[in-house]
Amino acid sequence: MKVTDYFEKAKGKTLISFEVLPPLKGGGMQAIFKTLDPLMEFKPPFVDVTYHREEFIYNKRDSGYYEKIAIRKRPGTVGICASIMHRYGIDAVPHLICGGFTKEDTENVLIDLNFLNIKNVLALRGDARKFDGKFIPEKDGHNYAVDLVNQMNDMNIGKYLDSNIENGEKTDFCIGVAGYPEKHIEAPNFAVDLQYLKAKIDAGASYIVTQMFFDNQKYFDFVDACRSAGINVPIVPGLKPLTKFYQLSSLPRLFFINMPDDLVAAVMKVKGDKEAIKQVGIEWCVAQSKELKAKGAPCLHYYTMGDQDTIRAIAEQVY
Ligand code: FAD
Repeated sequence: MKVTDYFEKAKGKTLISFEVLPPLKGGGMQAIFKTLDPLMEFKPPFVDVTYHREEFIYNKRDSGYYEKIAIRKRPGTVGICASIMHRYGIDAVPHLICGGFTKEDTENVLIDLNFLNIKNVLALRGDARKFDGKFIPEKDGHNYAVDLVNQMNDMNIGKYLDSNIENGEKTDFCIGVAGYPEKHIEAPNFAVDLQYLKAKIDAGASYIVTQMFFDNQKYFDFVDACRSAGINVPIVPGLKPLTKFYQLSSLPRLFFINMPDDLVAAVMKVKGDKEAIKQVGIEWCVAQSKELKAKGAPCLHYYTMGDQDTIRAIAEQVY
């Protein structure tokens, strides 16, 4: 079923969903099941699986020189989605990125997804590779998420890259895209970022999942700004609990978000006590979740990052 149909069917009730990362190459599905098994009692209608582009690593050779090689450390998104659907009988939403894909690669993945009856995709650009400095698309790949949305829309009307294909099977993808309540790091300002978000919706995306945030007011303001800009699709808040002291600075650096004063103060107060810091993070996320739920968010989307115990502790208090 489509994610947007779940929202409609819920009639205002706030759903719950989780996001998992494929295990590092060499790991097995057990890592995913270990994360999801304890979370299934909360009845998520769908679970997202992230997609990871290849990264460059440097290997020292016998000669003393280093060789630069590209490896994908977390492959398997499509297979994991199929496995989740099989084991739990729920929908799985693969993330699909522009980085590392030609348009032809993208088309072939979308064909696989269609054959697996995967109805939903979160369409993203992907970040720059670590040593690239800026996002570099593949030759004949997409520059922006909106281009990916357009390609999916083409397939939804039976239009494939090869113009010789006539009467191509029409896919029926429900497309989600990312939104940034505190602006995407590369956007010159919030208003410009919002214009590009609107372009993704106008191109055919039907829901938005937000970057994590720790101040609910940022989400409420973002929703208001979207509505004023004519973006009327469901906006799902993405939530990640803070669990470690260093995240006070790593999360703002990595995700271009701000930490509210009260959260910083509460963590500082228990600095050095790992358990207490985690507890502060859980309580903060529970309070965020309860308010978002009370104010009618369509779904709370938790970034699990393999920490099912923390997410469970939160979900138990909210659902
Ligand atoms: P876009 O919408 O393409 O925007 C990228 C930047 O370009 C923005 O600054 C935007 O303002 C600007 N822009 C957009 N369109 C145009 C245009 N036409 N002309 C000029 N500028 C433009 N990354 C992964 O690698 N794998 C994942 O699984 C993954 N999952 C994510 C899930 C969520 C919910 C979120 C919020 C992010 C996720 N990311 C993931 C990270 C995401 O790929 C990065 O944030 C990336 O830098 C931007 O992706 P986007 O889809 O928002 O890009």
